[in-house]
Amino acid sequence: MKKTFKAIISVLMSLVLVFSITSSAFATETEGCDCGQAPTVFVPGIGAVISSVDENGEEYSVFPIENSKLIPGVIGFLPVALITGVFGGWEYVAKALDTLLNDLFADMYCDNKGNPVKETFVDDSHEVTVDRHLNQNYFHFEYDWRLDPYESAAQLDAYIDEIIEVTGHDKVILNAFSEGGEISLAYLDAYGSDKIEKYIAECSAFQGLTVIGKLFTKQSSIESEALVNYLATMLPTVGLDSSLTNLIVGLKYLGIYELVEAIAAIVLDNCFETIYYGFARNSFASMPGVFNFTPAEYYDDAIELLFGDDPKYAELIAKYDRYHNAQVNAGKILKACQDSGTAICLISNYGCDPMPFVGNERYQSDSLIDAKFTSGGATFAPVGQTLGESYVQKNADGHNHLSPDGCVDASTCMFPESTWFVSDFNHWNEHDDLVEWLKAYDGQPTVWDNPDYPQFLKGNAATGEMVPQK
Ligand SMILES: [Zn+2]
Ligand SMILES: [Zn+2]
Repeated sequence: MKKTFKAIISVLMSLVLVFSITSSAFATETEGCDCGQAPTVFVPGIGAVISSVDENGEEYSVFPIENSKLIPGVIGFLPVALITGVFGGWEYVAKALDTLLNDLFADMYCDNKGNPVKETFVDDSHEVTVDRHLNQNYFHFEYDWRLDPYESAAQLDAYIDEIIEVTGHDKVILNAFSEGGEISLAYLDAYGSDKIEKYIAECSAFQGLTVIGKLFTKQSSIESEALVNYLATMLPTVGLDSSLTNLIVGLKYLGIYELVEAIAAIVLDNCFETIYYGFARNSFASMPGVFNFTPAEYYDDAIELLFGDDPKYAELIAKYDRYHNAQVNAGKILKACQDSGTAICLISNYGCDPMPFVGNERYQSDSLIDAKFTSGGATFAPVGQTLGESYVQKNADGHNHLSPDGCVDASTCMFPESTWFVSDFNHWNEHDDLVEWLKAYDGQPTVWDNPDYPQFLKGNAATGEMVPQK
């Protein structure tokens, strides 16, 4: 079987897009506010810059790794790998690679309790001011994406309290993207939704992603066919001209992708085990914020394979268990919030093949996260197919929840009346206008309330626009 540690790095790098926004002003307090719209707290995806201070008192970036460390590390690795490989074989190459990765990522590691080994910080200088509320009405919550989401949730709770106190509103709108969905689920699980007027989750990772589940259960692989499919569906969503997409896809006739598959297979067959129990376990698998991307169905196997019943991981596994439990009960947790008066809205992008590390599966995704997860349980045809003429909506609730393009049955969602779907959008395509409408809506918005925003939309990646599917 062809397996890949590369997936770890690729997934992480793909996740890295959102960086901090800073503002500075003086915080003041007000008594109530009649501006008419609750403040928005945005919880972004993975990617906050993590900094530390070196022995000379100089601040430096732990993540992303600074080039001054990355480049010499990689350059130094190549001759070592070559020499040890020639004389010692693959085992030595694998060890050299593992050492390189361990060196590069050491400052970012968490210990076997899931806490950062090095004193680090993220830029959380997003001051809460009345001015900011009245102008942008948008507050960015920055967090360390490695941490236990319940730890980030505690910080989020304090941030929400501060916003409530300063702005004079008694509730906020919680808007989450990607890993922000994981942090928010932990928040709603731990603190309930008394302070949340609306919860809007875009491309949410609250139920994990199969790419990570396969990786942590040693089922990753690179298949040439999957690589071609991924490029074919992903590239147009980053606005690439179709002729360029055709060219890249056309390269398959030259055997380029088979070559990539073959090389990856050789390297990975020989290096995966060493990397898995070295670098992967020490790094991403020990970061709760990242490990929690493991979907429920892979959870037990991942824990068993990575940690067995080694007591030194007991505290880490207890943290993982807590979030896993929330993940399994996500529907119940969110429904309880809705029952207590919080509006719940989910937005799911689809139309892309999954990253090419999951064999030849063609489940619907936003190129990163499974669409069945971001939508809270919709039923999808595989990419390139429809559910078929004879398909019957699974839950007959008196509405039509089948998409005009024939790919989606939304009746199986946690929230069939308030989950929106956008085809041909990738993970990073945004939904600004839709989100603004959701925010402004008084009460629980549904897919029946606005003809501009029915349940199923078609995205145009080049312009960023969405139109109702026909
Ligand atoms: Zn206000
Ligand atoms: Zn319905």
